[in-house]
Amino acid sequence: MLDMADGARLAVGLVERIGEETSRLAHTPLATDGAKREREERIADHAAALKAVSEELAADGLGLDSPELAAIGHRVVHGGQKFTQPTVITEEVVAELEKLVPLAPLHNPANITGIRTAMGLRPDLPQVAVFDTAFHSTMPESAARYAIDTATADAHSVRRYGFHGTSHAYVSRETAKLLGKDPSEVNVIVLHLGNGASASAVRGGRCVDTSMGLTPLEGLVMGTRSGDLDPAVILHLSRNAGMSVDEIDSLLNKKSGLIGLCGDNDMREIRRRIDEGDEQAALAFDVYVHRLKKYIGAYYAVLGKVDAIAFTAGVGENAAPVREAAVAGLEELGLVVDGDLNAVRSGEPRLISPEYARVAVAVVPTDEELEIATQSYALVSA
Ligand code: AMP
Repeated sequence: MLDMADGARLAVGLVERIGEETSRLAHTPLATDGAKREREERIADHAAALKAVSEELAADGLGLDSPELAAIGHRVVHGGQKFTQPTVITEEVVAELEKLVPLAPLHNPANITGIRTAMGLRPDLPQVAVFDTAFHSTMPESAARYAIDTATADAHSVRRYGFHGTSHAYVSRETAKLLGKDPSEVNVIVLHLGNGASASAVRGGRCVDTSMGLTPLEGLVMGTRSGDLDPAVILHLSRNAGMSVDEIDSLLNKKSGLIGLCGDNDMREIRRRIDEGDEQAALAFDVYVHRLKKYIGAYYAVLGKVDAIAFTAGVGENAAPVREAAVAGLEELGLVVDGDLNAVRSGEPRLISPEYARVAVAVVPTDEELEIATQSYALVSA
C-alpha cells in the first residue's frame, strides 16, 4: 500500500507457496511499527491469499475498507493488442482478459482471480489493470512481427508483445532524470536482469524494441529460461528425444537458462562457485554475459545514438561483475564502466561510468509497485 502524496510505502508484503501444504505470508506495516510479521499456514488459492493480506492490513488500521483508498492497481501480465494503457476494470474488461488467457496461461488466470477477489472486497473502488506488455505497444511492426506466414500469425495473435513493461517504463524515465533530461530527449537501453530478464531499446521515452516476445521466454539468458534459441531445437527434441510439448515447455521455462547450464539460478551462488574455480559456473556466466552483450550491440544499432544504458532488477542492481563483463570491450561504442563506481553498493540511482564516457552507464533500482500505483492513481484522479 502506497501514499500517493509522496510515493511512500505504508505496508509491504508477500505471499509465497500458495496452494502448497504450508504457505507463507510476510507483512511489514511500514506506516506503524515497521515490525515484520510472518504467518505459516495453508493458503489454498490466490483468493484466500488476498483475503489474508487484507486482514493483515486491517490489523494496522489500513484495511481495504479505508475511505482514503483511491484505487487498487493490478499488475496484469498480458494485455495482448487490446490493452495498451492502464485500464479501469469493468466486467467487460474482465471478459476481455479471459480471452487473453491462451497468451499467458500461467499468469493471466491468477491476475483475474486477484481482480475478482479485490472487486468482491471493495466493489465500489476503482480497480485498475496495469499491463506488463503495455509499454512495448509502441514497437514498430518491423520489431513486433515474427517473419512467419502473416495469416497464421494474425489468426493466432502470434507477434512480439514484450514484458516487464512497467519496469522498463519506470527505469527509462528515472535514467533520464538521472541525466537531468526529459525522457523525450534521451535514448536508453534498459537491461532488466532479475530471475526473468529482458532488454529494451527506448527512444525518446517510447519503446522501439524489446527482447521478450509472444511470451517471456524469448531473449536474454534468464534464471531458469533459455531465452533465444533456434526454433528447430523444439522440433528436434520432439522428433528425436520423444519429448512432449509439455516436457519441452518445462525444459525451456524451468530447467534452462542459468539453472540448466550450471544447476544454480542465483547469481550470488554462481559468483561464489566461480571464485572457487568451478568451470561449469564460469561457462554459465559467460553464456549469460555473451547474450547480454549481443543485445546491447543490437539495441545500440536499433537506436543509432545511445545516451545511457541502465542496469536494473536483482542481478542488474547488485551484480557488479555482470555489469563490468557486459560492457567490457565496448569502449569504441563509448561504453566504459569505472571500477570504483561499479563496486559501490547503494539503493539509489547512480552512474557507474567515468565522466569522460560518451554513453552514461547507470544502475537504476526498479520499482514496479510504485509505477503501477502511479499509473493507477493518475488514471482515477484525472
Ligand atoms: P529479481 O527477479 O529482480 O528479484 O532478481 C532475483 C535475482 O537477483 C536472484 O535470483 C539473484 O540471481 C539476483 N541477485 C539478488 N541479489 C544479488 C546480489 N547481491 N548479487 C548478485 N545477484 C543477486
